[in-house]
Amino acid sequence: METLAPDKPTLVYKEGDGNIAVLNGKTIAMIGYGNQGRSQALNMRDSGLHVIVGNRDDTYKARAEKDGFEVHPIGEAVQLADVSFLLVPDEVMGDVFERDVRQNLKDNAAIVFASGYNVAFGLIELPANADVLLIAPRMIGVGVRECFLNKKGFFSFVHVHTDRSGNANAVLLALAKGVGSLVKGAIDVTFKQEAVLDLFNEQAFGPAFGRVLLSAISTLVDAGYPPEAVLVEMYMSGEMSYTYQKMGDVGLVKQTNFHSQTSQYGAMSRGIKFLSLPVKEKMKEILEHIENGGFAREWEQPISRLKFKLIKFFAMRQKINKLERDVRRRLGVIEKDILEAEPPTDEEMQALNEIKKELRAFENSFSEF
Ligand code: NDP
Repeated sequence: METLAPDKPTLVYKEGDGNIAVLNGKTIAMIGYGNQGRSQALNMRDSGLHVIVGNRDDTYKARAEKDGFEVHPIGEAVQLADVSFLLVPDEVMGDVFERDVRQNLKDNAAIVFASGYNVAFGLIELPANADVLLIAPRMIGVGVRECFLNKKGFFSFVHVHTDRSGNANAVLLALAKGVGSLVKGAIDVTFKQEAVLDLFNEQAFGPAFGRVLLSAISTLVDAGYPPEAVLVEMYMSGEMSYTYQKMGDVGLVKQTNFHSQTSQYGAMSRGIKFLSLPVKEKMKEILEHIENGGFAREWEQPISRLKFKLIKFFAMRQKINKLERDVRRRLGVIEKDILEAEPPTDEEMQALNEIKKELRAFENSFSEF
């Protein structure tokens, strides 16, 4: 185990910190067999652990059975398990927990969340008889499996929220090792810190980055550059993802060494022109709204689901979508997984009437490009 800043030590767990033998004779139930569930179940089984799956009777169940797992209804899997990983979408987690998990938990069993959201914002009332753990991969599901198979591992955020058994930390680290995260490193952060970091990345960095990217594209297209060349230059080539990878590998600034001298001079000398943008102030506002639970409360309101439906509809009608579709067709890039969005029904629009002004602002914001 390593600690970082000496004044406020961060615990970073590595391969040597986990002992899988702690889980000998234990049954681990994966509740949900989707993005994370499938990859984590396969990794755990390959690490020599006894894994079962809890799922409703549908295609995910069939997939788990095809992969050779014993599949039970969720409540039954929890009853059989010493450790239950709750790997269903965060939006349904509360209902699944109350319906199938709480009353079926064995005393001193452990429940493991892959996201801090529901616990951090008080959306699930935690049971008193179980260990409550966090193992939140910083990796999408397919990556969790790939990085296990190629032995590179993946970072995760881990935490013991409740140690009912008296052995929760050893169990946490054995599980983190079994799933394949300790190869790279597991960083101890609270449920709230995990949730806030995740939401902040999505709500502050993501949209700010998107806005910058769209501004760059529209500046070039408006100036008469060929859209095919603009989109390839800006993101379709995939060069950006290499740059991102190199940031992680060698450092945010040091990765510039992989670019030409001209590129480095241009980038470093022009950053100053964007210094006055009030990005950080906006980000602080967003952070505060997440930290004080404002976002979670907003998202819990039924009207937010309707609002989301309409905003997504606006987003899918943005000019960039048509431009992109034409460019992809002309470049022969196969269109896959392009989402279309249905507009809200008349009845839903009626319900949205009270936030009409706010919605108009969203519509305008998407009509720029
Ligand atoms: P998925 O959307 O892939 O989960 C699908 C699974 O959930 C299926 O087994 C599905 O089974 C089950 N499910 C869906 N709805 C219900 C329901 N109402 N009742 C019972 N089961 C249901 O989820 P993810 O793997 O993406 O996310 C799981 C957890 O991992 C979340 O906490 C998420 O925040 C976290 N996480 C996700 C990451 C990612 O990259 N996706 C990254 C890191 C963490 P069925 O429909 O058959 O019932």
